[in-house]
Amino acid sequence: MRYGIIADIHGNLEALETVLQQLEEKVDKIVCLGDIVGYGPDPNECCEVIRKRGIPSVAGNHEKGTLGELPLTWFNENAAAAVRWTQGAVRPENLEYIKGLPLILEFPGFQIVHGSLLKPVEEYLTNLSEAIPTFERMTKPLLFVGHTHRPLILEQEGKKIINPGSVGQPRDRDPRSAYLIYDDQTGEARLFRVDYDIEAVQNKMKAAGLPQFLIERLSEGR
Ligand code: ZN
Repeated sequence: MRYGIIADIHGNLEALETVLQQLEEKVDKIVCLGDIVGYGPDPNECCEVIRKRGIPSVAGNHEKGTLGELPLTWFNENAAAAVRWTQGAVRPENLEYIKGLPLILEFPGFQIVHGSLLKPVEEYLTNLSEAIPTFERMTKPLLFVGHTHRPLILEQEGKKIINPGSVGQPRDRDPRSAYLIYDDQTGEARLFRVDYDIEAVQNKMKAAGLPQFLIERLSEGR
């Protein structure tokens, strides 16, 4: 079975639709690593696309922030402004959907979580030493994580942790949308990048009054 792995969509509908269009012909199932909302101008539309397509997802820190389960003080200034904006924009049915998202999901052969297995929506895994407590908690040989918005592979004693990068707000100096395809027959995980209409999203963000820094970072991939 071929899986499309997507993470950190962040209310970026243009990026999400571009990625889903590419994945449609290539995979049997799509799973999402959380942060469907936050930063971007289309949190409702992104929730609805994920819901309607039946894409299983875990919760991210921006879902927890929107719900008030993570305090605004946890976020930096720009992120907190975006969380406040999202709180005012998300419709009740999507808030209900977000509320129901689990922290960890299991599939045959792998698990998914937004941040880490130690602190599911808070901890960033950027290197092997940070990942040791998570490796110890893995119940499958493979774990997909998001949260850092940077693609990464970590390996320890035959176990792997893979981050596919971000659909809606890449931070590895490549502004193109990132997604990953995992084939559980061959064990191959392949990263893809795709151009999307960044300017359209930036114009929507301007109209919504979202912070200038968040608008600019999209075209810089940082
Ligand atoms: Zn994120």
